[in-house]
Amino acid sequence: MDLISVIVPCFNEQEALPYFYEEINKVSQKMNNSSFEFLFVDDGSKDRTLSILKELAQKDERVKYISFSRNFGKEAAIYAGFENCKGDYAVMMDADLQDPPSLLPEMLRWIKEEGYDSVATRRGDREGEPPIRSFFAKLFYKIINKISDADIVDGARDYRLMSRQMVDTILSMGEYNRFSKGIFGWIGFKTKWIEFKNVERVAGQTKWSFWKLFKYSLEGITAFSVAPLQIASLFGVFFSFVAFVMIVVIIIKTLVFGDPVGGWPSMACIVMMIGGIQLLSIGVLGQYLAKAYMESKHRPLYIARETNTKK
Ligand code: UDP
Ligand code: MG
Repeated sequence: MDLISVIVPCFNEQEALPYFYEEINKVSQKMNNSSFEFLFVDDGSKDRTLSILKELAQKDERVKYISFSRNFGKEAAIYAGFENCKGDYAVMMDADLQDPPSLLPEMLRWIKEEGYDSVATRRGDREGEPPIRSFFAKLFYKIINKISDADIVDGARDYRLMSRQMVDTILSMGEYNRFSKGIFGWIGFKTKWIEFKNVERVAGQTKWSFWKLFKYSLEGITAFSVAPLQIASLFGVFFSFVAFVMIVVIIIKTLVFGDPVGGWPSMACIVMMIGGIQLLSIGVLGQYLAKAYMESKHRPLYIARETNTKK
């Protein structure tokens, strides 16, 4: 029998967890050709998440948990899940039932019968999302696909079932600045996309503010593309060229017409603009330097405080 590892990152999910467990348990009972392992990663929750997980683990030996020493973020939780899962297949799901467990049988079928390496999901629509958020999300996907090889699908969720081989490949990408959506696309493999309708979270609250999402998107861009650095160089080339032309024009003008020194407002504007672009370029450079700095420290991606995965 195959073992399927269900990886669930949880950050303050005390309200949603009981519903989630009930639902995944139901689905697992229907899929009686597979055995299951439910690996919950408690990402430094401040509520009763961990004690709920412990209660579940007492009742059901398929329930495993890893509890972090603090909040390390969903990316770290996903990594910890992959690192500690034992399944022949692994699937990631949010704890809030926005990734319907009922799709699992169909997903498994695509891998087993059609020879795919992974089955990924995307939302068909962005219904119920603030329009401004949708706008920026769409813009982000457009930009990142232009400037990187990461191949990121708009509306893609992290809900994905994959083969052991793919899990091991993902683990071999040991980078500190992790952007899973990019990593999944970058490693390739045969992926089947299935679409489902956007579902509201069953209980509790979203952990993502607009600002957090914005920072996360910059993370994605710097992790998978050096285009911003190239743009900075292009700015440099362009303005050097413009400056050269202007110098020639001014010299000729002065020689021919004996023009006095004039137009300081335009000069001030130019100085300001070039100064701004310089600062921007240094900032971009700094972003990459900061990433390289963090990578070079080789810090662990997460620190587990408590777990029942190792016996
Ligand atoms: N999550 C996490 N660590 C965090 C933030 C979120 O493990 O720092 C988990 C959260 O518990 C949930 C999943 O990531 O299972 C998705 O989070 P959420 O539902 O808040 O995001 P949304 O669906 O609103 O994008
Ligand atoms: Mg959610």
